Amino acid sequence: MSGTYLGMPSFPRAAASSTRDMRLRGNLRHATHTIRAKRAQAVEELGDWAQLRAAGAALKNRTLRHLDHYLEQLETAVTGAGGQVHWARDAEEANRIVADLVRETGESDVVKVKSMATQETGLNEALAKAGISAYETDLAELIVQLGDDLPSHILVPAIHRNRDQIRDIFREKMGSWGRAAPKNLSDDPAELAEAARLHLREKFLNAKVGISGANFMVAETGTLVVVESEGNGRMCLTLPETLISVVGIEKIVPTWQDLEVFLQTLPRSSTAERMNPYTSTWTGTTDEDGPSAFHLVLLDNGRTDTLADTVGRQALRCIRCSACLNVCPVYERAGGHAYGSPYPGPIGAILTPQLRGMQSELDASLPYASSLCGACYEVCPVAIDIPEVLVHLRERVVEGGTATVRGQRTTIKPAKGHAAERAVMRAARWTFEHPRAMRTGQRIASRTRRLTPRRLPLPGPGRAWSDSRDIPRPAPESFRDWWRRTRGSGSAGSGREGGDAR
Ligand code: SF4
Repeated sequence: MSGTYLGMPSFPRAAASSTRDMRLRGNLRHATHTIRAKRAQAVEELGDWAQLRAAGAALKNRTLRHLDHYLEQLETAVTGAGGQVHWARDAEEANRIVADLVRETGESDVVKVKSMATQETGLNEALAKAGISAYETDLAELIVQLGDDLPSHILVPAIHRNRDQIRDIFREKMGSWGRAAPKNLSDDPAELAEAARLHLREKFLNAKVGISGANFMVAETGTLVVVESEGNGRMCLTLPETLISVVGIEKIVPTWQDLEVFLQTLPRSSTAERMNPYTSTWTGTTDEDGPSAFHLVLLDNGRTDTLADTVGRQALRCIRCSACLNVCPVYERAGGHAYGSPYPGPIGAILTPQLRGMQSELDASLPYASSLCGACYEVCPVAIDIPEVLVHLRERVVEGGTATVRGQRTTIKPAKGHAAERAVMRAARWTFEHPRAMRTGQRIASRTRRLTPRRLPLPGPGRAWSDSRDIPRPAPESFRDWWRRTRGSGSAGSGREGGDAR
């Protein structure tokens, strides 16, 4: 692993190699099955889960509809509380703002609490180029950083590693980043946690600058919220003199009362806990308590483009709980790295192509990284209809069409290599629009059903599809013919059947 997403292959090629890695598949299967069972139990405890889910979706929808208003309210509140707000159009701008802010402090080391937004912008690499070292302090992120690896899960970035591997990484790498691990370190979880605790404590006590993300931002008071399980985040948020928070603009909620819904649904969906062990909130600066300087970098990076798509915008409701990853059969086998983005799994398959655009082979392949089984939609605490967005994005890949890119309405060309799919879809559409042709086709298929081959080996790239799929044998009689035969010509159904039923 190179520690960067740049130049990663398309999903099918990356997944082809990861699915052959039996150790990776074993690690993933064990972890996702454990957490999915616990989540189901934690959710069942709440009698009003369906209402909470609907409330979360409605709250996010309303906030997204008035995003400009709430962001301005947030900026006023943060500034009024002694903080400073910076607006970043894209990843490059966000990284430049953060690097400049760190330089102004005169420091060259920073501590970080897990932040998806800064993974999205590639902040660590940008800071390294500016001569600044960023130390990850979330335990799983630390494992990823020491292993020169990439995160493979939203909540448990090192889910693809087992205890043996973590012990080896700690033994080999901790010493070159700070306090070394004990020589006789075993793979006992308590020993591993203690080694990480001592290593990180040294970092926390020396750090003058902290960098964080946030799970939520409350517009009415300008308050940022981080929920976590370890307490490392709280150290990172309170000990340094300067705190820089980089947050996606969609993380906003209007009021504290709105937060109440998400503080119930997020922990149960993510870690199967009734509430998070640590919920930290901070509002600007406070004399003699916590950081004396606070900067909020509000990140767009494709979010307003996503908002312009009336189907795709529901991806912005995501609260990053990772429940959809833990139930996804594709994620379980392919692993997170195959998605080539800090957002893997079902949410990654719809969010990444919208944030980055679908010009690259990798991004155009992501809407296909799904079996469309719908398990992701069932578990999503904000009811994002991921299958609907996947199909919508597939249509854009195949047919092209209009989209907003960097604020401009543009026409996207159909992706190369989808000519056959386009032809098949057009033929299917024509058939559905011409019921007589469809009836004739169904009857011919029924009468020749014995001649239908079990497999249809297609040439070229189509072979990857046809090699692994059986062709279902047509029924001896079509539904329409059965209906007419059993209900007779006088029934309502047969009346429509004779006409232009669609
Ligand atoms: S899409 Fe839904 S289930 Fe998946 S991470 Fe986001 S909120 Fe959780």
